[in-house]
Amino acid sequence: MKRALGAAARDVAAYIRTLDENLSEPPLNAGAAVPAAAAPLQAPSPAPLPAPAASAAPAAAVAAEDIALLAEKVKNCRRCGLGIARLNAVFGVGTYKARVVFVGEGPGFQEDHEGEPFVGRSGQLLDKILETVLGLKRSDVYIANIVKCHPMKSPETPEAHGNDRPPTPEEISACRPYLDEQLRFIKPACIVTLGSVATKVLLGIDKGISTVRGHWYDYPVELFGPGHPIKVLPTYHPAALLRNPNLKRDTWEDMKMLKEFLEKPV
Ligand code: SF4
Repeated sequence: MKRALGAAARDVAAYIRTLDENLSEPPLNAGAAVPAAAAPLQAPSPAPLPAPAASAAPAAAVAAEDIALLAEKVKNCRRCGLGIARLNAVFGVGTYKARVVFVGEGPGFQEDHEGEPFVGRSGQLLDKILETVLGLKRSDVYIANIVKCHPMKSPETPEAHGNDRPPTPEEISACRPYLDEQLRFIKPACIVTLGSVATKVLLGIDKGISTVRGHWYDYPVELFGPGHPIKVLPTYHPAALLRNPNLKRDTWEDMKMLKEFLEKPV
């Protein structure tokens, strides 16, 4: 069994290595150092958005309808300055029935242009990890970001490459209620935070990703009342794996933990 797992791990590492070699775009912003002025990253507790209206319609239909309304709200949102320079609001992608939601920091250049999270080089790697380790497609999970609009160093030039920056605490605080509302609709069993920024924000901690990864935590916000926590598994952002291939082994271990969790009977 151990030998089989070792061989599988080697296969995946080789597969991801092959993918790296075939990809040549520069990495996206996630995983970048947080500027000193932005620390601490934990945003103040945001005011929750209004709860979705009760309805006699089937639950799935209500969720889809309500989440579509929320997506429309995000599309028109100008709660923070990011809404002025963005090309597209990047709401999220996947199924509303997902048992796991992957959460990154914020859209980058490619996401801003396409209006979908994780579509650049990091997104391709995330797709490969999903498929190879978990046997899932992005349409089987849900993928979103902490902030829905592209944080840019120079908002006057949204067409420029190398213009990404991490979101500020104010931007995170303004946008965070949207993510919690998405989670309320989806009701996932767990969240995988991708990288330091998403992990610090969602767990409300100030520890690096290498310290906290590989362990399960309870999401500190009680979205479904006491005694019904959403589990949180922090791992490295795919952009970090592209920069440092040595992190792939730990990520593989984290994804095995996720697979075991998802395979447990509900
Ligand atoms: S980042 Fe979030 S809060 Fe700011 S404008 Fe975009 S959707 Fe609104």
